[in-house]
Formats: sequence, C-alpha cells, structure tokens
Amino acid sequence: MVKVNENFVKLPASYLFVDIANKVDAFQKKNPGKEILRLGIGDVTRPLVKPVVDAMKKAADEMGNAETFRGYGPENGYAFLREAIANHDYKGLNIAADEVFVSDGAKSDTGSIGDIFGLDNVVAVCDPVYPVYVDTNVMAGRAGDFTEGKGWSKIVYMPCLEENCFLPSFPDEMPDLIYLCFPNNPSGVSMPKTKLQAWVNYANEHGSVILYDAAYEAFIVTPGVSHSIFECEGAKNCAIEFRSFSKTAGFTGTRCGFTVIPKELKVGDVSLNRLWARRQSTKMNGVSYPVQRAAEAVYSEEGQKLVRENIAYYQNNARIILEGLKKAGFTVYGGVDSPYVWMKVPAGMTSWQFFDELLTKCAVVGTPGSGFGIHGEGFFRLTSFNTKENTEKAVQRIVEQFT
Ligand code: PLP
Repeated sequence: MVKVNENFVKLPASYLFVDIANKVDAFQKKNPGKEILRLGIGDVTRPLVKPVVDAMKKAADEMGNAETFRGYGPENGYAFLREAIANHDYKGLNIAADEVFVSDGAKSDTGSIGDIFGLDNVVAVCDPVYPVYVDTNVMAGRAGDFTEGKGWSKIVYMPCLEENCFLPSFPDEMPDLIYLCFPNNPSGVSMPKTKLQAWVNYANEHGSVILYDAAYEAFIVTPGVSHSIFECEGAKNCAIEFRSFSKTAGFTGTRCGFTVIPKELKVGDVSLNRLWARRQSTKMNGVSYPVQRAAEAVYSEEGQKLVRENIAYYQNNARIILEGLKKAGFTVYGGVDSPYVWMKVPAGMTSWQFFDELLTKCAVVGTPGSGFGIHGEGFFRLTSFNTKENTEKAVQRIVEQFT
C-alpha cells in the first residue's frame, strides 16, 4: 500500500497566514460594514511600473508571432536577465551571469535549496523566523520531532531578542546550514556589515554554509549595512544568496527571483553551483519569457527610477507607523531598512491576544509574533505595504485604542 511522506504529516495543519485569514473572514462576516485595514501579510499594493508592464506586453506579442515565438527557455534563466542581475545588483562584486539562477521567487529557492544538502546536516535558524526555512526542513526530515513550547528537536534556534538587538549570536551547537535573513522578516532589523562579516568568518572556520535571504535588500538605507553578503570577505566560499523581485519591484503576483551561488563555493570538491544547476534543470523548466523580460526592465533607467519611488512610498509608510506608535508610547523596532515594524505588545498580553484586540476593536490586521517562533512572543509585526491613507488610519486607530 502506498505510504505518504511522514515528515509532511508532522507539520502543523495550517499555515500562519491561513489562520489569520480565517479569523479576519469570521470578523468581516460578523461586521459586514466595517472597513478592515490590513497590515498583516507582506504583500505589496503598488502596481507594476510602466517599463515593466510595457516589456511584459512586448514579450507577450513576441510569443504570438511565429518569427519571434520562443518555446522552452534555458532552465536557469535567459542570459539577458542573468547578465542584467550580475551587472547591476552585483556590480563590483565579480559575480558572473552563470552564478545567477533565475527562478519564480525566493520562497521556492529558500524552500528547495535543502535538496542539495545531506539530511544529517544540522540546521540553524533565527527565532523568530520566516517559517519557510523551518517547514521545508521538516518536510525533508531534517528537523526531528516537535514539542509545543520548545520547537523541533534537531533545529538549532538562535533567539533574536530585544537584548541582542534581534541579531543572532553564535549558537552553542555548531550548525552546518545557517539561515540568515537581513533585513529581517519579521523583526525588520538589519545586520551591520561588521556582524555579517563575523558570521562569514565563523562559517568559513567551521565549514558551514550560510543561506542568506536578502529579499528586502532594496529597503536598506543605513550606511554600513551590506546589500549583499558577497560584500564580505570570504563569503564566496561559504554563502548562497537569495533575492526577489517581489518586494523590490512589486512582483509578488508576477513571480521572479534569483539565487546566487559562486563557483568558489564547494563542499569537499563538489561545486554547489553545479549541484543547484543540476537540481533546477531537473525539477523546473525556467520562468516564463514575458516575466523575465519584465524583470529585465526593472534594471532600465526609467524602471529603476520608478521602482525606487515605490520603495520610497513604502518606506514613508514604515516611518508613519514607527513615529505614530513611538509617539503614543509603544516600543517599536525595525521599519528603517525594512518594510516591517516589530512592535512590543502591551504588557500582560500575548501576541495572539493583541491580534484579537486589534482586529475586534480597531479592525486592523497585523501578524502575531509568536507565529514566527517561540521568541516572537510578546511582539507583533506590522507591514508598510498598504496605502499611505490606510496606514495613517490604522496607526490612528491603534493609538486611540491603546493610549
Ligand atoms: N524570503 C522572505 C524573508 C520573505 O519574507 C518572503 C516573502 O514574504 C520571501 C522570501 C518570498 O519571496 P518571493 O515572493 O520571491 O517568493
């Protein structure tokens, strides 16, 4: 008889955002006239910029013409996009086009990268954490068993707390695979280059690999914060970097991202660049041509200007949240190099209790910190991806209710 993958059965039944959506739906049904302001899920609201849409339309027309039609493309991305990424995002860092792997987004890549690593590797994650890193390691069978209040037995959790400015310390147990995400989801903090360099040194000394998720790189404004881990000396020997057009250019629904694996990165004499190329070309047939042309247009002069304007719009929303809540006496973090604000929930409440209060009293949706890990308890994530008007309204409602 057929057997299921028991690792999948170990996973909690639903995903954080499904639980939230169910609560919000129930509230809306009970209060049909109420305007709900959503500062919960990390999805963008600004439309794609014109050069991106034009490029996608032009590419769609090419696909409808016998002379310019294209069938299967190269599995790891068209050269035009891989080169644009290498030349623009990695300018001066000596990353070659064939070290860039184009995909449908950073969720797929951060979720699938484990395929090229052995199952007996010890995995370390920050806590709180973007849940994909943990859940995909559970699916792979690398996580051990789950205990409520403790987490997965084989995962090394690196607490990111107020005391350490939400930056992980080197764990007691030596991990093989270290997931780092900066600017961070959910805490919104960035890691100074000096600290990131220390992690690179640590990984090189111990023969670990850092899986560096830089999905929010475009939001960095603070001097001394690296945009890429490859700015750190020695990183090409120990790091893989993931990026996405989702938050940078509004591609959450369009789907495009990429992973950079330097050729220097080897485990023994096995090239991880070669393994990933093999994995990808076996399991996927690339990203659609119109989407890759759209992503290429992000790097045009006009594309860059307009995309930066959208990011500035979200950055201004983050400032509105930060300043509004600070003025009202809340303790808040993040929100400077990131679209996420990490607020401390009022004393005596859990983060889910605060979620319920906020939903029922203010009709504002955020994300409870405990949904991102045990050490997220006591915090709450608000995102800056809504409109300016809704962001202002939401902050006003929170301040009025809780002060
Ligand atoms: N990595 C982090 C840290 C994220 O927060 C997200 C989305 O919220 C992703 C990756 C997913 O990005 P993509 O839309 O490219 O799959």
